[in-house]
Amino acid sequence: MSFIEETRRRRTFAIISHPDAGKTTMTEKLLLYGGAIQLAGTVKGRKSARHATSDWMEMEKSRGISVTSSVMQYPYKGRMVNLLDTPGHADFSEDTYRTLTAVDSALMVIDAAKGVEERTIKLMEVCRLRDTPIMTFVNKMDREGRDPIELLDEVEEVLKIQCAPITWPIGSGKRFRGVYHLRRDAVHLYDPEEGGKKSTGEIIEGLDNPRLDEVLGPQAGELREELELVQGASHAFDPEAYLSGAQTPVFFGSAINNFGIEELLDDFVEYAPGPLPRPTHSRKVEPTEEKFTGFVFKIQANMDPNHRDRIAFMRICSGTFDKGAKLRHVRIGRDVKIPDALTFLASDREHVETAYPGDIIGIHNHGTIRIGDTFTQGEDLTFTGVPNFAPELFRRAQLKDPLKMKQLAKGLQELCEEGATQLYRPLTNNDLILGAVGVLQFEVVAERLRTEYKVEAQFENVNVQTARWVESDDPKKFDEFKEKAATNLAIDHGGDLVYIAPTRVNLQMAQEKWPEIRFQSTREHG
Ligand code: GDP
Repeated sequence: MSFIEETRRRRTFAIISHPDAGKTTMTEKLLLYGGAIQLAGTVKGRKSARHATSDWMEMEKSRGISVTSSVMQYPYKGRMVNLLDTPGHADFSEDTYRTLTAVDSALMVIDAAKGVEERTIKLMEVCRLRDTPIMTFVNKMDREGRDPIELLDEVEEVLKIQCAPITWPIGSGKRFRGVYHLRRDAVHLYDPEEGGKKSTGEIIEGLDNPRLDEVLGPQAGELREELELVQGASHAFDPEAYLSGAQTPVFFGSAINNFGIEELLDDFVEYAPGPLPRPTHSRKVEPTEEKFTGFVFKIQANMDPNHRDRIAFMRICSGTFDKGAKLRHVRIGRDVKIPDALTFLASDREHVETAYPGDIIGIHNHGTIRIGDTFTQGEDLTFTGVPNFAPELFRRAQLKDPLKMKQLAKGLQELCEEGATQLYRPLTNNDLILGAVGVLQFEVVAERLRTEYKVEAQFENVNVQTARWVESDDPKKFDEFKEKAATNLAIDHGGDLVYIAPTRVNLQMAQEKWPEIRFQSTREHG
């Protein structure tokens, strides 16, 4: 297959949903339909098997949240699908936002009984920033759900996106009988399958087929009536509108029962965009350019506790990556050889021979790579749009055993490189201050310090309310500021200068006093 064909057949996406809507279940089923798993192995179960020695995963499991993002690649009907998993819990939303910068489209999963929920709204806002195309799966039709017409109205109203139903449910809960495919004019009868078996429910061609009345009884008539209404009132699927982010095709089903997923996947690989062009500070990069470019959207430490590795996840934007390639690490201006990149075929890490635009590769990070870093084959360009957020919560790390200071500093430095938490070292004292967006992040860091670095640390309150990255175009003023405001300044784990303010009023006063200094609450990496 040529480079262009390989590129065009890539589909790189993430699932967005409110916790509990069924993202994990959906992920498993997508893998099942992609042939990546044969049996009923669950994603969560498989993850913990690989990390059997790590208490940290135990914690993740017992909380029932998936904190660790991972990447899964599998072939489906001639296409190559890259599914980027994202943590569902709001405390890890930064990680999710950054992952969304690395996809070309998204799949939104909605609980039929609950409709549009708060996290879905937030994630949708993030997708909208880049007009990411979104397909929708309304899940849990096997339970009593809300009226589907009402649900679509809610999606349109709350999320401000047109809905184009592709399949339509026949009843819900105990009366759930299957879905009607509007374009194919065929009914797929509900036949719940557990675990690793694909649905084999009967297909009935044509809405007028008498077989439908035979099987559905009076529900057949109800379906015909409802569809007349739906087809009159809803939007027809328009691929252009979908690609521009203005319309979402909608599918109904039950992920846990392996139902309605094949319809979704078939249209997904057909219509979802392949690798899209990506903006940089200087120009747009087309995926079909022959020279390699990519950016790092995530760093994760100790994915495999036996190897104590840190992996940088890089999205390939153009060209191919070949094993052993030499790449320019643009931010530090150095060419580095990448001997052993990882790929994520069928959810197991394997060594990459060649990877294409849209693919994610994992490269070992020995501390020089940061989130947002661009790699090229020599050209000096930097991809834009990978955000970093100023934290809202601050704690001081406190050691139980003071002799372990070195391990603590090392552990915090490495965990903070993952980007979920920020580490600050004040210029005028030896504190280690951690900043996070969600409170659960502190617990996770404490737990990981214990299991991965053998350090017992606690996080206690500290007199910091907010932090801003600071910079200035006026070097003289900047020096003066650094001297006068030294007690409020700290260095973050990336080496950048940060103003840490005990109160918002203090920050405001500093901003007024130093108009030449920029105080920034978000920072773009790179
Ligand atoms: P996540 O938090 O979004 O990853 O959601 P999960 O995939 O963990 O699912 C949340 C709960 O809903 C679990 O107990 C699932 O077994 C259940 N669930 C998922 N899909 C379905 C479905 O189609 N029908 C029903 N009845 N339950 C489902």
